[in-house]
Amino acid sequence: APPYVLNFGAGPAKIPSSVLERAQSEMLNFDNSGMSVMELSHRSKTFGKILNGTKDKLKTLMDIPDNYEILFMQGGATTQFAAVFYNLVAAKQAKDGNHDEIFVDYLVSGAWSNKAAQEAERLAKNERSKITVNKVTDSKQQFGRYGNVAPADTWRFSDPAKTAYVYYCDNETVHGVEFQQVPQVDPRVPLVADVSSNFLSRPLDVRKYGVIYGGAQKNLGPAGVSIVIIRKDLLADLDVGPVRPLMLDFKTMADNESMYNTPPTFAIYMVGLVLDWLVEQGGLAQIEQRNIAKAKKLYDAIDNSPLYNCPVDPSCRSRMNVVFRLTSEALETKFLAGVSELNMVQLKGHRSVGGIRASIYNSMPEQDVDRLIAYMESFEQAHT
Ligand code: PMP
Repeated sequence: APPYVLNFGAGPAKIPSSVLERAQSEMLNFDNSGMSVMELSHRSKTFGKILNGTKDKLKTLMDIPDNYEILFMQGGATTQFAAVFYNLVAAKQAKDGNHDEIFVDYLVSGAWSNKAAQEAERLAKNERSKITVNKVTDSKQQFGRYGNVAPADTWRFSDPAKTAYVYYCDNETVHGVEFQQVPQVDPRVPLVADVSSNFLSRPLDVRKYGVIYGGAQKNLGPAGVSIVIIRKDLLADLDVGPVRPLMLDFKTMADNESMYNTPPTFAIYMVGLVLDWLVEQGGLAQIEQRNIAKAKKLYDAIDNSPLYNCPVDPSCRSRMNVVFRLTSEALETKFLAGVSELNMVQLKGHRSVGGIRASIYNSMPEQDVDRLIAYMESFEQAHT
């Protein structure tokens, strides 16, 4: 038998073994087609069923209302930094005509929201209309580093009448910062969330959002597909607003049911299998309870120890990416050397921050978290 590996990777991440086994069992002969999903024409009836089935499952699981469109796109979550900017500025211009100045508001709570804001700044410079990127809050400026979110009453939004959208990252994968409430924004302004690393880890009220998007490779399946859920009134015609590549245009994607060109067929199929698995687990409310229990155990182990500490404020600690430090970098190196002997992999913190990061997505069983905690305790006994 292959070694049992405990994969704490931030993404690509662990996929439930029953999902992989099902993909294996269907690999050579999908639905009696005599072919693998990878070999099916994206225009075939058989693939059409996969794509629409995946959409329907997501719709049911997340309770997505009819006035939202589900898109499958490529280019990873990073591509959405640009797509969101282009499309929602266009939607604002389509709705209002040109303002002298349009604002796009960003809550910056970690590396990923910061990158998204930087991309918007870069693209805004190139636009004919004046578009200002406003950082509503910026944790690094306010606290000197990421790991906390300033209270909502200190956030400085732009004039809602002139704001195309408010953007935030619901779970900051590198810094382990997760919003525990939906940010309150003026109802006139669409709220955009990057949920790449906590997609389907808890129920989410879709109605509060203009756009919800994420890459699949953490909680949803393999890399190669991103899911975008967008309120239909925000789909702007291609000839309005910023000039944008066809492949980044939400309306083109929606009008063509995500098949303007060849979609990432196998990745979409895999997402469908993960959604079936989630239903088998009891749905999002159930998964959330499990995620709360797993994260609590791990944070308790960190907080109750003289050797470990978590740099993230308890008010915004991620249930998905648990980051922690040891009392010295030398001990961190030793800690990481020890885990690989136990077949625990990908526990090293992101290269930009160091330390330890345990990503414990939906697919991570509680027993694997228990084994990590047991190792942490024995390491602590040996080193304090
Ligand atoms: N947003 C978040 C929250 C992420 O965690 C990541 C990837 N780790 C990205 C965006 C970028 O995703 P991709 O690599 O798919 O472009």
